[in-house]
Amino acid sequence: MIRLNAGAATDTGRVRTINQDQLLVTDNLFAVADGMGGHQGGEVASLTAVEALSESFGNARRADDLVEAAKEANRAVWRKAQADDALRGMGTTLTAVAVVQEEGEERLAILNIGDSRAYLMRHGDLDQLTEDHSLVEELVRTGQISETEAESHPRRNILTRAVGIEEEVEADVWQIAPAPGDRVLLCSDGLVREVADNQIASMLRRLADPKEAARELVAKAKNEGGSDNITVVVIDVADDGAPVEVDKLEKKKPRRADKQIAERDDDEQDAVLPSGRGDSPLTFRVVVFVTFLLAILGAAAFTVFWYARGSYYVGEHDGNVAIFQGRPGGFMWFDPTLEKVSTLSIDDVPPSRLDDVQQGKNVDSIPDGENYIEALRDDAARLRQGGGTSPTTTIASPPTAPAPTP
Ligand code: MN
Repeated sequence: MIRLNAGAATDTGRVRTINQDQLLVTDNLFAVADGMGGHQGGEVASLTAVEALSESFGNARRADDLVEAAKEANRAVWRKAQADDALRGMGTTLTAVAVVQEEGEERLAILNIGDSRAYLMRHGDLDQLTEDHSLVEELVRTGQISETEAESHPRRNILTRAVGIEEEVEADVWQIAPAPGDRVLLCSDGLVREVADNQIASMLRRLADPKEAARELVAKAKNEGGSDNITVVVIDVADDGAPVEVDKLEKKKPRRADKQIAERDDDEQDAVLPSGRGDSPLTFRVVVFVTFLLAILGAAAFTVFWYARGSYYVGEHDGNVAIFQGRPGGFMWFDPTLEKVSTLSIDDVPPSRLDDVQQGKNVDSIPDGENYIEALRDDAARLRQGGGTSPTTTIASPPTAPAPTP
């Protein structure tokens, strides 16, 4: 089993009178919870969630067990909130890391509900693993506000998801294959409100001891204002000299499938989850590959569509000259569509142009097609005035020959 060394610290901060944050550090399970709700609600919610999570997960070894434990924590907080008017409406964030066994290897499962965060420091780079379930984060994701605007947004404390607010909750779960030297940081928003990510990264690089790193991060946030409760858990994957398998280092996020399952209310999970495997095998690499494949297919489909539909031609429809969109005879599964029928009869088309029209004369646009038809009409008129040429005589008088003007 991988060896983990953890350190943790929490502080009320300089503004709040009570600390509603909770943390959990065991051998195989770590968590941060940031409670909210008036009176004692926030404290009760975060403590209840962490206790229920720990009790439910126990010594389990699967990422699914961590999800189940979080759901159990949600139900525990929900039940308590329903049973006591003073606690009604309380809730908490929950961000947790567990050692799990998936596909024959040890991994770290990272779970998140709310706006506490998990980060991974690997080779000196700090990456945020979790996505905040907050209103401002949604606004940033959908491009309605910028990252900079988000930092000072007046409604940034509004969560879109939290533990205990509703009877059921959905968790985001990621898996990473831990490498020696990896450092996972769990923290409540009290840290990231005061300390920028690059400062956090620099402190994590400098302070090798996880206990010291946790303490110093909390102290830093307090010095920078301490406007909220601050909680930090630092978990180090012991560097025991084992070689790092580079191809196992990708961040794995298998749980997008969960969202689909949750949305398909009546579908049985078995119909969606691959059978015979405890967990979704949708790894990061698969996601990248599928995305890449879809991009190629998309580009190909667009090219086909553009070729098939991005042009027009003049042809025949029920004895009249007409404009079509598409390719004459269609292309692949795209049939041409009739855009406009002219009053020009096919019988009046000058013989030299008849072949073109019957096979479909490509034009760039509908106006182009109309110009082409007008030219046919003019030619036909000139031929008639020139006299003597019936539309079916194809050899006699060249249609390009100037017709005498009366
Ligand atoms: Mn907070």
